[in-house]
Amino acid sequence: MSSEIVDRQREWQDRTWFPPGPQLAICLSGGKERLADLTDDELLQVAAAARRQTSWAQARELAAIAELQQRRTGAEVDGDPDYRVLSAHEAVTEEVSAALSVTGNAAATLVHLAERLVGPLAATGAALEAGRIDLSKARAISAATETLPDEAAEKVEAAALEKASTQTTGQLRRRIKRLAERLAPEAVEERKREAVRQRRLEIWDTPSGTTDLALCDLAAEDAHAIFNKITAAAQGLKHDGDPRPLNLIRTDLATQLLYGADLPAALRALLTPPPDDLPTAHRTVGHGCEGRTDAAESASSSPSIADAAEPGGRSVAGDGVFVSELVDRIERRLAHVRDHVQPERLPIAIRRAAQRIHQELAGARDDACRGRDERHGRPGYRPPAALRLEIEARHATCVFPTCNQPVHRCDIDHTIPWRPGTTCRCNLAPLCRRHHRLKQTPGWKLHQVWPGILLWITPSGAWYIVRSDRR
Ligand SMILES: [Zn+2]
Ligand SMILES: [Zn+2]
Repeated sequence: MSSEIVDRQREWQDRTWFPPGPQLAICLSGGKERLADLTDDELLQVAAAARRQTSWAQARELAAIAELQQRRTGAEVDGDPDYRVLSAHEAVTEEVSAALSVTGNAAATLVHLAERLVGPLAATGAALEAGRIDLSKARAISAATETLPDEAAEKVEAAALEKASTQTTGQLRRRIKRLAERLAPEAVEERKREAVRQRRLEIWDTPSGTTDLALCDLAAEDAHAIFNKITAAAQGLKHDGDPRPLNLIRTDLATQLLYGADLPAALRALLTPPPDDLPTAHRTVGHGCEGRTDAAESASSSPSIADAAEPGGRSVAGDGVFVSELVDRIERRLAHVRDHVQPERLPIAIRRAAQRIHQELAGARDDACRGRDERHGRPGYRPPAALRLEIEARHATCVFPTCNQPVHRCDIDHTIPWRPGTTCRCNLAPLCRRHHRLKQTPGWKLHQVWPGILLWITPSGAWYIVRSDRR
C-alpha cells in the first residue's frame, strides 16, 4: 500500500520542474492520472503544471499576434496617412478582436502587450513562455515599465523577474513600484501627474442589473481624504445604533452627498434606513459573466427577415429558421472554398466567393425587399425616418462582430455606397466611425447578403456573419 503511494507520488514528483510545452500537455491529458486517484500534493502539482502550460499557451497567442502585427505594418505603404481608412496598426487590432471575440479595447491591449513582449520586454516574454510567470504578472511588468526611460525600464524588468515566480501579482506590483520610484523618480512623478490630468467620473452597468459609479485617477491624497471622511461619518452613525454594515452606510452617505445634500442633512436622511436594507438575510449577488439568453434574443428577429421570400421564391412564414439556413449555407460555401484552396490564395478566393454569393442572392433579395411593401429603394441619400427606425430596430449596435457601440452613436451606412447602391433596408446598417473606416480599409470587405445579414471578410480571408438577432 505504502509503496503504491510512493510510486504515484513519483509520477508527478519531477514535474514541478517540468517545462511547459507539448510534453507537459501530454502528461496533463494522460488518462493514467485520474484526478480522483491522486494525493492532495499531486493535485496541487497538477494545478501548478496546468498553470505553467496556460502561460506557455498565452505566450504563443501573443507571439502569433505580434507576428501578424509585424506583417501588416511591414506591408503598409509609406506616405501621407489616409484618414478615410484605418492605419495598419488599428486594422490589425480589429482583425484580432474579431478572431478572438474580444472587444476592440481588449484587442488593442493584447496587440500592445504582444509588441512589447517581442520588443523591449523580451525577457518577460521568455519568462511567460517558460511558465515562470503568468499573464497577469506579464501585464503588471509591462504596465509599470511603459513610461520609464529605457535604461530604468530594463533594470526594473530584470529585478522584477528575479522574484516574480514566487510573488503574487500584488506583491510584484508593489515591488516594481518601489524599484521604479528608486530608479526613475521623475518618470514616476510625471506619470502620476499625467494620470491625474485624465481624472474622470466613470459609470458602467453590472451583470446584476445595478450600476457602478467611480471617481477615477484622483490624486491619492484626495481619494484617501474623501474615503476617510465618509468612513468616519459612517462609523459615527453605526455608533449611534445604525445596525447596517459599514459598507452600506458609507455608500448611502456618499450617494446623499453626491446628490447635493450637505453632511448633516445626509446623516439625518440615513437615520431611518428602509427595512429591506437591514442585514437580516444576506443576499448573494451574482457575478457571473454577462449572461445573454440566446433563446430570448433570437425570438426578436427582425420583421424584414421574417417576411422575406426565400431565394427560391417561396414565402417563408417566419422566424430565424430561414435566416439560420441561409447563414448555414453561406458558412458551408465559404468553408468549402477554404478547404480546397492553396493557403496563399485563401484571402482572394474567399473575397471572390463572398462576391459571388452576394450576386447569386441579388434576385431573391430584391424580391424579398419588394414583397414587403412594394418599395425597394428610396429616393435620396438620407433614409426617411421610418426606414431609419426599422434599421435601428434591426441592429441595436454597430454591425462589426465585436462592437458594442449603440446604434444612436452610429452612422447608418450604405453597405454599397449610395449610387450605385440604394437607400433601402437591404443596403443600410449601422456602423460606428471606427468600423466605418475599417470597412474602407484595403483588404476588408463588407457585404449585406440579405437585409440585415452582414458578411465581413478580413485581410486574412476569415469571415464573420452578423445577424440582426445578435442581441
Ligand atoms: Zn431593398
Ligand atoms: Zn463599431
